[in-house]
Amino acid sequence: MDSTATRHVACAHCGAVNRVPAARLGEDPTCGRCGHALLPGAPIELTDANFDAFVGRSELPVVVDFWAPWCGPCRTMAPAFAQAAAQLKGQVIFAKVDTDEHPRAAGRFGIRSIPTMVKLQGGNEVQRTSGAMQAGQIVGWVG
Ligand SMILES: [Zn+2]
Repeated sequence: MDSTATRHVACAHCGAVNRVPAARLGEDPTCGRCGHALLPGAPIELTDANFDAFVGRSELPVVVDFWAPWCGPCRTMAPAFAQAAAQLKGQVIFAKVDTDEHPRAAGRFGIRSIPTMVKLQGGNEVQRTSGAMQAGQIVGWVG
Protein backbone atom coordinates (compact mmCIF):
# COMPACT_ATOMS: atom_id res chain seq x y z
CA MET A 1 0.00 0.00 0.00
CA ASP A 2 1.30 3.46 -0.91
CA SER A 3 2.01 5.24 2.38
CA THR A 4 0.89 8.61 1.00
CA ALA A 5 -2.45 7.25 -0.23
CA THR A 6 -5.67 8.00 1.59
CA ARG A 7 -8.87 6.04 1.89
CA HIS A 8 -12.33 7.48 2.18
CA VAL A 9 -14.04 6.18 5.29
CA ALA A 10 -17.65 7.10 6.02
CA CYS A 11 -18.73 7.82 9.58
CA ALA A 12 -21.69 5.63 10.57
CA HIS A 13 -22.61 8.15 13.28
CA CYS A 14 -22.86 11.44 11.34
CA GLY A 15 -22.39 10.43 7.69
CA ALA A 16 -19.26 12.53 7.10
CA VAL A 17 -16.74 11.09 4.69
CA ASN A 18 -13.22 11.24 6.12
CA ARG A 19 -9.93 10.92 4.25
CA VAL A 20 -7.68 8.68 6.28
CA PRO A 21 -4.03 8.09 5.33
CA ALA A 22 -3.73 4.42 4.41
CA ALA A 23 -0.81 3.99 6.79
CA ARG A 24 -2.96 5.18 9.72
CA LEU A 25 -6.04 3.05 9.16
CA GLY A 26 -5.08 0.81 12.07
CA GLU A 27 -4.45 3.70 14.48
CA ASP A 28 -8.01 4.36 15.68
CA PRO A 29 -8.88 7.21 13.31
CA THR A 30 -11.79 9.36 14.49
CA CYS A 31 -14.36 11.34 12.53
CA GLY A 32 -13.26 14.91 11.83
CA ARG A 33 -16.83 16.13 12.26
CA CYS A 34 -18.25 14.27 15.26
CA GLY A 35 -15.24 12.60 16.88
CA HIS A 36 -16.65 9.05 16.81
CA ALA A 37 -14.26 6.20 16.09
CA LEU A 38 -14.29 5.46 12.34
CA LEU A 39 -12.69 2.02 12.51
CA PRO A 40 -13.36 0.75 16.03
CA GLY A 41 -12.42 -2.86 15.31
CA ALA A 42 -15.94 -3.85 16.35
CA PRO A 43 -19.13 -4.30 14.33
CA ILE A 44 -20.91 -1.03 13.45
CA GLU A 45 -24.72 -0.95 13.50
CA LEU A 46 -26.16 0.15 10.17
CA THR A 47 -29.75 1.20 9.58
CA ASP A 48 -32.06 1.71 6.61
CA ALA A 49 -31.28 5.42 6.99
CA ASN A 50 -27.49 5.25 6.74
CA PHE A 51 -26.83 1.96 4.92
CA ASP A 52 -26.51 3.13 1.31
CA ALA A 53 -24.47 6.22 2.11
CA PHE A 54 -22.16 4.31 4.42
CA VAL A 55 -21.36 1.35 2.18
CA GLY A 56 -21.31 3.48 -0.97
CA ARG A 57 -18.80 5.99 0.37
CA SER A 58 -16.46 3.63 2.21
CA GLU A 59 -13.39 2.68 0.21
CA LEU A 60 -12.54 -0.16 2.55
CA PRO A 61 -14.40 -3.44 2.06
CA VAL A 62 -17.53 -3.69 4.23
CA VAL A 63 -18.76 -7.05 5.52
CA VAL A 64 -22.41 -6.87 6.56
CA ASP A 65 -23.99 -9.42 8.86
CA PHE A 66 -27.74 -9.53 8.25
CA TRP A 67 -29.27 -10.88 11.46
CA ALA A 68 -32.26 -10.68 13.80
CA PRO A 69 -32.56 -10.93 17.58
CA TRP A 70 -34.83 -14.04 17.43
CA CYS A 71 -32.34 -16.00 15.30
CA GLY A 72 -30.36 -18.47 17.40
CA PRO A 73 -27.52 -19.07 14.92
CA CYS A 74 -27.19 -15.28 14.53
CA ARG A 75 -26.69 -14.85 18.26
CA THR A 76 -24.26 -17.77 18.26
CA MET A 77 -22.22 -16.14 15.51
CA ALA A 78 -22.19 -12.64 17.06
CA PRO A 79 -19.05 -13.15 19.20
CA ALA A 80 -17.21 -14.75 16.26
CA PHE A 81 -18.19 -11.83 14.02
CA ALA A 82 -16.92 -9.37 16.65
CA GLN A 83 -13.69 -11.34 16.96
CA ALA A 84 -13.17 -11.26 13.18
CA ALA A 85 -13.86 -7.50 13.24
CA ALA A 86 -11.12 -7.02 15.83
CA GLN A 87 -8.71 -9.20 13.88
CA LEU A 88 -9.20 -7.27 10.62
CA LYS A 89 -9.36 -3.84 12.26
CA GLY A 90 -8.25 -1.06 9.90
CA GLN A 91 -8.53 -3.33 6.83
CA VAL A 92 -12.15 -4.38 6.65
CA ILE A 93 -15.23 -2.73 8.16
CA PHE A 94 -17.66 -5.09 9.88
CA ALA A 95 -21.27 -4.00 10.14
CA LYS A 96 -24.54 -5.48 11.33
CA VAL A 97 -28.06 -4.93 10.07
CA ASP A 98 -31.02 -6.01 12.19
CA THR A 99 -33.33 -7.26 9.43
CA ASP A 100 -36.45 -6.81 11.60
CA GLU A 101 -35.69 -3.17 12.37
CA HIS A 102 -34.23 -2.35 8.95
CA PRO A 103 -35.94 -4.48 6.29
CA ARG A 104 -35.16 -2.15 3.38
CA ALA A 105 -31.42 -2.86 3.34
CA ALA A 106 -32.09 -6.61 3.69
CA GLY A 107 -34.73 -6.46 0.95
CA ARG A 108 -32.38 -4.76 -1.46
CA PHE A 109 -29.98 -7.68 -1.16
CA GLY A 110 -32.75 -10.28 -1.32
CA ILE A 111 -31.76 -11.77 2.02
CA ARG A 112 -33.82 -14.94 2.46
CA SER A 113 -32.11 -16.64 5.37
CA ILE A 114 -30.10 -15.33 8.27
CA PRO A 115 -27.39 -15.06 9.25
CA THR A 116 -26.19 -14.01 5.81
CA MET A 117 -22.92 -12.15 5.37
CA VAL A 118 -22.42 -9.95 2.32
CA LYS A 119 -19.05 -8.47 1.42
CA LEU A 120 -19.30 -5.12 -0.34
CA GLN A 121 -16.74 -3.02 -2.13
CA GLY A 122 -17.78 0.52 -3.08
CA GLY A 123 -21.38 -0.42 -2.33
CA ASN A 124 -21.35 -3.38 -4.72
CA GLU A 125 -21.71 -6.98 -3.61
CA VAL A 126 -18.52 -9.01 -4.01
CA GLN A 127 -19.62 -12.23 -2.35
CA ARG A 128 -22.06 -13.65 0.18
CA THR A 129 -22.49 -16.65 2.41
CA SER A 130 -25.27 -17.92 4.65
CA GLY A 131 -25.09 -19.77 7.95
CA ALA A 132 -23.13 -19.24 11.15
CA MET A 133 -19.33 -19.40 11.02
CA GLN A 134 -16.43 -19.40 13.47
CA ALA A 135 -14.17 -16.34 13.65
CA GLY A 136 -11.36 -18.07 11.73
CA GLN A 137 -13.77 -19.12 9.00
CA ILE A 138 -15.10 -15.58 8.71
CA VAL A 139 -11.60 -14.12 8.39
CA GLY A 140 -10.76 -16.76 5.78
CA TRP A 141 -13.96 -16.06 3.85
CA VAL A 142 -13.37 -12.31 3.87
CA GLY A 143 -9.93 -13.03 2.40
ZN1 LIG B 1 -18.91 11.43 12.36
